[in-house]
Amino acid sequence: MGRDPRYDILFEPVQIGPVTAPNRFFQVPHCTGMGWQYPRTLAAMRKVKAQGGWGVVCTEYNSIHPSSDDLPHPYASLWDDSDIRAHTLMTDAVHEYGSLAGAELWYGGANANNLFSRLPGMDVDSFPNAKGHPYQTRAMDKQDIRDLRRWHRKAALRAREAGFDVVYVYATHGYLISNFLNPRVNTRGDEYGGSLENRVRLTRELIEDTKDAVGDRCAVAVRFSADEEIGEDGQPIFGERREMFERLADLPDLWDINIADYSLEMGVSRFVKEGALEPYMQWVKSVTDKPVVTVGRFTSPDTMVSQIRRGITDFIGAARPSIADPYLPKKIEQGRLSAIRECIGCNVCYASDTIGVPLRCTQNPTMGEEWRKDWHPEIIKKRTSDARVLIVGAGAAGLEAARALGIRGYDVMLAEASREIGGRIVREAALPGMSEYIRVKDYREQQLLEMPNVDVFRESRLTVDDVISVEADHVAIATGASWRKEYYDDECYQPIASGEALTRVFTPDDIMDGNLPNGPTLVFDGDGYYMASVIAERIRAAGQAVTLATPSDSVSDWAGKTSERWRIRTQLHRLGINILPSSGLTKFSGDAATLYCVYSGRETKLPVQNVVMVTARKPNDDLYQTLSLRAADGALPFGFTRIGDCEAPGIIAAAIYSGHRYAQELECDLDLDVPLVHDRIDVGSELRN
Ligand code: ADP
Ligand code: SF4
Repeated sequence: MGRDPRYDILFEPVQIGPVTAPNRFFQVPHCTGMGWQYPRTLAAMRKVKAQGGWGVVCTEYNSIHPSSDDLPHPYASLWDDSDIRAHTLMTDAVHEYGSLAGAELWYGGANANNLFSRLPGMDVDSFPNAKGHPYQTRAMDKQDIRDLRRWHRKAALRAREAGFDVVYVYATHGYLISNFLNPRVNTRGDEYGGSLENRVRLTRELIEDTKDAVGDRCAVAVRFSADEEIGEDGQPIFGERREMFERLADLPDLWDINIADYSLEMGVSRFVKEGALEPYMQWVKSVTDKPVVTVGRFTSPDTMVSQIRRGITDFIGAARPSIADPYLPKKIEQGRLSAIRECIGCNVCYASDTIGVPLRCTQNPTMGEEWRKDWHPEIIKKRTSDARVLIVGAGAAGLEAARALGIRGYDVMLAEASREIGGRIVREAALPGMSEYIRVKDYREQQLLEMPNVDVFRESRLTVDDVISVEADHVAIATGASWRKEYYDDECYQPIASGEALTRVFTPDDIMDGNLPNGPTLVFDGDGYYMASVIAERIRAAGQAVTLATPSDSVSDWAGKTSERWRIRTQLHRLGINILPSSGLTKFSGDAATLYCVYSGRETKLPVQNVVMVTARKPNDDLYQTLSLRAADGALPFGFTRIGDCEAPGIIAAAIYSGHRYAQELECDLDLDVPLVHDRIDVGSELRN
């Protein structure tokens, strides 16, 4: 199968200053949770993107000096020659496949924490740290500006020496350079503040410095925001941005355009859909002759072509779509559109960086594992025997295990109790705003259809005797988990109701089954991610008065890591859902819930007729436990294990990973004591005596 000519335009080379991108697929700078701490992990991950056809592959933010340090969020660095060697691992790997490598230079200002370097950060003024750490920046004087320019230049030279083809001036996202541009923030009285011309001065100087330093061999790109803010009507406010842009329009070789609101630019699919930046891009290409790249969580090649033909952008910029499917360009080129693993917009990838651990992805379980486990998103080692594998349960874990085992060439039987495969994916995707999650099932279902060695048995709820009678060589139990009605009080599970009142205690499973409460309802969130908020939204949509209470100080606390917490809370307010943070729950009597303040212990009674407990889940592991008992009585003629939520309930990404790991490791010699290669500085073999 070849490429559909409709998509030819995506594969045209594009000149960027002194270099030429082989096509229009541009992996824009994105965080990885790896940075300078895991150079081999990082290089192997970027290499797969180049292999998969991304014409430009960029780094994450590269600190130009230790006074811009973002730990615990892992960033890359270009501080000294050791960084050059680390980056060369990546540029060599990217060049091997004919792609360009880009480096984003970064100075954080009040947005950098400096908790590692302990140096005072510098910004336009003395500002409080933007991430809430109790430190302020030093207001930059003229010498500081000269120092900054020198550091930026030196970092650019190191980037060139490391083999990069594109070097970025990073003038957005609230970092230092964007603060110089911002009239509300930059109130300096010198030639770097006040008038628009003065505020643009530093950006202009940095572009000119970078061109002067490396422009003979490297393209100079500028990351810039097209708008100042979003108005109350949801429309962009451009303010002076266009005029600013006009002054700089033809200075760099490439414009990388995004917007001021990060939670929209990389919004979760629950609130933001594909191509959301288009209204912001309307004037950009008319003001510059230089190529432009922008993002939009593009996964549809038709949308990509339309963006280019209509003159919105020259490159298809992507962070998340390139994480979910590093082979997206190759698949379009080969006409394998149904094989594209579309990003679902869950931002679990972003959470990795927020937490400070290497990147992971719901859709792509190999992401971040390319080096330490030698996993590849498209290639898996072939089977080593003719063994037959039975997988019980076709939810996230079971589907992924079947898919990956299918690629390995095993004969796989996938048994599912329901008529529909997909397990929790299908159920959760039917909740408000969650529809894109169905892609996790759709991709795998489509892949299985093309595998003659995988048989799917629907409406097949297996018992232990059924499992034994199948006579498989290996059995994976992937039967999921069910939400509990009890409350986990940090030590044990506690019941909150008894008798008739217990019949009006619901779980998310009840709501997903269509068993909705009638009358005022308390949704109690002891889970802290998205589930309680979507359940509250669902019940509210059915016309009930809803209160959402949580022991946490904030609603959907963990969703702060995926950048959706703010939007969740706004949505709950908009829907008229009453919110009670810092509230524990002890009892539900049938007509009132007893809540207490987690700080003072003071009890209050909330008159409600129903409670939905969104707290914890119980593994559905009866089958596994019974098999274990049978095995203890006498050896079973097959090996068995449990995977996914049946093993340990978690987010969908964890279940997909679990299923994939099972498939990758089946019948492989694995050192269980050291199951991965540890990427870190090796201090050698000499021990202190
Ligand atoms: P996970 O996230 O671990 O994949 P899910 O809840 O998504 O878990 O999927 C579990 C699947 O297992 C569900 O589709 C459920 O219908 C199925 N299942 C549960 N028990 C059995 C059983 N005994 N036989 C076959 N399928 C089962
Ligand atoms: Fe997309 Fe989610 Fe994967 Fe991030 S983790 S790339 S948002 S599917």
